[in-house]
Amino acid sequence: MVFVPWSQVSLWRCNGCGICCREFEVVLTFQEWLNITKKYGVGVTRAGLNKFYMGKKPDGSCVFLYMAPSGKWLCGLQRNKPLACKLWPFKILNKPKYGDPKKAAFEYYGHRFYVYVDSFCPGIYWGPPSAELIYKVIPEFIEIALGIRQEQIYSTMQMPSNIFILKTKRDYKLI
Ligand code: SF4
Ligand code: SF4
Repeated sequence: MVFVPWSQVSLWRCNGCGICCREFEVVLTFQEWLNITKKYGVGVTRAGLNKFYMGKKPDGSCVFLYMAPSGKWLCGLQRNKPLACKLWPFKILNKPKYGDPKKAAFEYYGHRFYVYVDSFCPGIYWGPPSAELIYKVIPEFIEIALGIRQEQIYSTMQMPSNIFILKTKRDYKLI
């Protein structure tokens, strides 16, 4: 995992490759573990020394990963995905952690966050940040990280109806 400041990214769009759901371990909070096991049984999770993880199929992919008729890989949990899955491949932090604080700083309604993206994700387009990234994608990731938003539109694979239309300029500033 190599985290880079958000300002080096032009746009991020999930392409449904499913790599993240095969390559990484998903750590669950206790509440997430409780919710998932209540509904699907303990067999869909794994317990580590002091953590709970999402379970994996024999091929290493998450138990909830499946291929849609479109050929894209989708999550069977959708709205109930663990927070770690909702936030991937972004890191929303209160302090700079992976270098270049100026390039990682992002202001959201007067509060400064440090936003990084995992360069492993093939959904990243490199270059000067686009309006969609600044006004839609990153604010949505911040709102999810803060727990003030559940619904995912720009922070997950977009359907054609979700294609970006900039209607109003919101109170986000580039630093
Ligand atoms: S988040 Fe990135 S790695 Fe995961 S499915 Fe989307 S494009 Fe692929
Ligand atoms: S819960 Fe969903 S998003 Fe998270 S790893 Fe499993 S399939 Fe992927």
